[in-house]
Amino acid sequence: MTAPRPTPQLATSLIHHPYQPPAGFAGTAVAVHKASTILFPSMDAVRQRDWAFKTSYTYGLHGTPTSFVLEERLAHLEGARHCLLAPSGLAAVTLVNLALLHPGDEVLLPLNLYGPNQEFIADCLGDFGVTHAFYDPLDAADLAARIQPSTRLVWLEAAGSISMEFPDLAGLLAVCNARGVLTALDNTWGAGLAFAPFDLTGPDGQPLRLDVSVHALTKYPSGGGDVLMGSVCTRDDDMLKTLKRRHMQLGLGVGMNDVEAVLRGLPSIAVRYQAQDRAARQLAHFLAGHEAVAQVLHPALPDAPGHAYWQQICGQAANDWGGQGAAAGIFSFVPHAAWTSAHIDRFCEALQLFGIGYSWGGPQSLVMAYDLQGRAQRPGAQHVRGARVIRLCIGLEHPDDLQADLAQALAQVHPH
Ligand SMILES: *Cc1c(COP(=O)(O)O)cnc(C)c1O
Repeated sequence: MTAPRPTPQLATSLIHHPYQPPAGFAGTAVAVHKASTILFPSMDAVRQRDWAFKTSYTYGLHGTPTSFVLEERLAHLEGARHCLLAPSGLAAVTLVNLALLHPGDEVLLPLNLYGPNQEFIADCLGDFGVTHAFYDPLDAADLAARIQPSTRLVWLEAAGSISMEFPDLAGLLAVCNARGVLTALDNTWGAGLAFAPFDLTGPDGQPLRLDVSVHALTKYPSGGGDVLMGSVCTRDDDMLKTLKRRHMQLGLGVGMNDVEAVLRGLPSIAVRYQAQDRAARQLAHFLAGHEAVAQVLHPALPDAPGHAYWQQICGQAANDWGGQGAAAGIFSFVPHAAWTSAHIDRFCEALQLFGIGYSWGGPQSLVMAYDLQGRAQRPGAQHVRGARVIRLCIGLEHPDDLQADLAQALAQVHPH
């Protein structure tokens, strides 16, 4: 008798997947197939082609065996059934907006939504007669009060990528489900590892429906800081058709060498996510105890806005380490009230290992300063002790070296 095999964790199943190399060649890496033209065996095969469900190949823009494998892997990672690739995370976001919103529709946005998504909706879609309004992601009742008959889509993001509030994700989804409003989650932070976005449940254990998940593959899946790509995942066949039609019309293609780079990153995503989480929490605790720091904004820290929601959604993560839940390796802190913007600039420039730059999930740690002034309505504003925040994206350096780097930069800058 053999023991029943447990369902493998993502760290395992992302490596042991059903890719079939060519007969007689048992290489483990997925081959790179590039094409614009793909030949059909007959005119009948042309007529039978199925661009939506990937039962056949039609033209390079609609995928090759290489991109089909990546799409299948990403759908697996996020617990979806279908996936489409886009040339950047932002292109994946705009694809969702362009596929789901029409003149006269309203879209509701969390106050801390990824900035370029807000800008696209307000500027570009505003020109096409789509209206938008904001809601507080920490308050499901606020969202419920804002839904109108014209509300078609609600964007969700967990956690906010600068101020790091973790939303009441289950509460927000429950409101949208009850009101029949479509939901799209920017899942770049969770990456399919901190929680399973399509398998969330409500307070009574009822399954919660998520229509679409968007992922900036630029971050964790690539892991190299050298690729731009995005994905859109869904469980729903009709939603796939809607997305795929717009995807075709927009001509969104990705290069197969970039697809190969992401395929190369995926087998290590779970351990990288864990390592960066562990290092980020070490540094977050270090900063929380430093006199130059007014507050650390990391959803796993008890006084961070949305901490209880993080605990509820990510506390039992499949990718957990040591029973402490899972979080991305990115957080912000509010410096001491005596710090001016000149102090902040000096701090960022005094760091030796942290580079000044955007993005995250790569090997090198990064720092960036943001001014939340003018976003007075931001969620959890009453919990955040200051308007200026410094965001740290933790790479794969040794965390003790990163901690020493933060310590020396703080010592240089903090007015004693
Ligand atoms: C980086 C990022 C994006 C956009 O990804 P790009 O590939 O840089 O266009 C979207 N959402 C979030 C939360 C991100 O961090």
